[in-house]
Amino acid sequence: MSSVVVVSSENVDEKQQSLTTSVVQAADKKVNLLGMSRAELEKFFEDLGEKKFRASQVMKWIHQFFVTDFAEMSNISGKLREKLEKICEIKAPEVVHRNYSKDGTRKWVFRVGDGEGSLVETVLIPAEDKTGARKTLCISSQVGCALDCSFCSTGKQGFQRDLTPAEIIGQLWMANYSYMEDVPVAERERTVTNVVMMGMGEPLLNYDAVLSSMQLMLDDFAYGMSKRRVTLSTSGVVPKIDQLAQDIDVALAISLHAPNDELRNELVPINKKYPLQQLIAACQRYLAKDGNESSRRHVTIEYVMLEGVNDHPEHAQQLLKLLKNLPSKINLIPFNPFPHAPYGRSSRNRIIAFQKTLSDAGFVCTIRQTRGDDIDAACGQLVGQVADRTRRAEQWKKKVAQRQEILRTQG
Ligand code: SAH
Ligand code: SF4
Repeated sequence: MSSVVVVSSENVDEKQQSLTTSVVQAADKKVNLLGMSRAELEKFFEDLGEKKFRASQVMKWIHQFFVTDFAEMSNISGKLREKLEKICEIKAPEVVHRNYSKDGTRKWVFRVGDGEGSLVETVLIPAEDKTGARKTLCISSQVGCALDCSFCSTGKQGFQRDLTPAEIIGQLWMANYSYMEDVPVAERERTVTNVVMMGMGEPLLNYDAVLSSMQLMLDDFAYGMSKRRVTLSTSGVVPKIDQLAQDIDVALAISLHAPNDELRNELVPINKKYPLQQLIAACQRYLAKDGNESSRRHVTIEYVMLEGVNDHPEHAQQLLKLLKNLPSKINLIPFNPFPHAPYGRSSRNRIIAFQKTLSDAGFVCTIRQTRGDDIDAACGQLVGQVADRTRRAEQWKKKVAQRQEILRTQG
C-alpha cells in the first residue's frame, strides 16, 4: 500500500520544523500533527493538495476539543479523514506516572524515548489570583540540561536530548485533557490559564521546538492564551534572548540567582560565557522591543534563596544596583533541597529580610510559595527521582563529598 508522507521521516516529530520539504510517496511512520504550528500545518495541507483552512479546522479539533481520532472530525470530508488516518496521527507523549495532590497540584511523568532516563515531568500548580483561579503549568523543554547550575537537580542529570514540538505542546494538551477525560467533546473547555517554561531543560537551547510550541499556545485556533500568561524562563542565553525578541511576544523570566559575576559563575556557569552586564543589556533590549506591549513591561527575576550563599543583606544591596535600570519584578524562590545537594534553604526570616530590602527600594518582590511538596512536585525538583546515569553526576557527588569532608574537619 502506498501512502503520502514527508521526506526522511525516521523520527517524524523532529522533522516537523522543516515541513517545507515536499511530500513524497511511501514511508511507514505516520506524521504527528500535534506539534505543528499553524504555518506548518497549512503547508502540510497544501502539500497534500488541500485548502489551507483545513489547518485551522484540524488545530481546533486537536487542541480545543482534544480529539485524536480523525473519524470524529465532523467538519472534514470523509475522504480527507480517511487520507489523514493513513498518513498522520495525533499523539501525545506516553504518561507513565501521574499524581494529583490534595492541594490541586497535578504532576505527570512522560516517557519520551526508550532509555531508562528518558522521562520528563510536567507540573500543574493552582493558585488564586485577582482574576480568579489560576492554573499554572510548568513545562519541560529538554530531557536533562547541559548547563549544570550547581543548585539544580535537572542540571545534575546532564543533557540527554531536546524535546520535539509534539512532546512540548503534548504536556499542555495532556494537562488540559486531564480535566475533561469524562466530559463530552462539545462541552470540553481548556483549563490551564498560565504556562511557564520552567520545567526540565533550558528552553532557549531548544529554540525552534520551543518557539513553535509557544506559537501554538498563543494561537487562537489552538490554546489562544494571552501573551502575558506564557513565560519563558532562561538562565541567560544572551543571543537567543535577542532572537526571541524578534520572533514572539511572551513574558521573560531570568534565572539570576546571584548579584555579581563571581558568585553567578559558580551557581549558573553559563554566566562565564554571558556575564551579568551582557545579560542585563539583553533584557533591556527585550523590553525595548515593542516597549508598550503589556507582556514586555518588565522581566521577572528569579532568585533562589540558598542559605549563607546568596542571601546576605549585602547581596540584596548588590541586586538593587544591578537592577536599577531594568524594569523588573523579583521572585524569591526558597531552595528545594534534593539528595546530595550541597545547599540549604534560607530561613524564612532571612528571605523576608531580603524581600524587605528590595520592596523598600520600590521593587515588586514576591516569595514563591512552595506547593505540591506532598507529591514531590515543587519547582526545581523535576524528575528528581529519575535514574541518574551521567558521568557528571558521579563527579558532582564526589565534589559534594569532598566539600562535606572539608566542613567536617573544619567544624
Ligand atoms: N533552564 C531554565 C528553566 C528551567 S529551571 C532556567 O534555568 O531558567 C526553572 C527555575 O527553577 C529556574 O529559575 C531555576 O533556577 C529554578 N530551580 C532549579 N533548581 C532549583 C531548586 N533546587 N530549588 C529552587 N529552584 C530551582
Ligand atoms: Fe538547566 Fe535551568 Fe537547571 Fe540551570 S536551572 S541546570 S539552566 S534547568
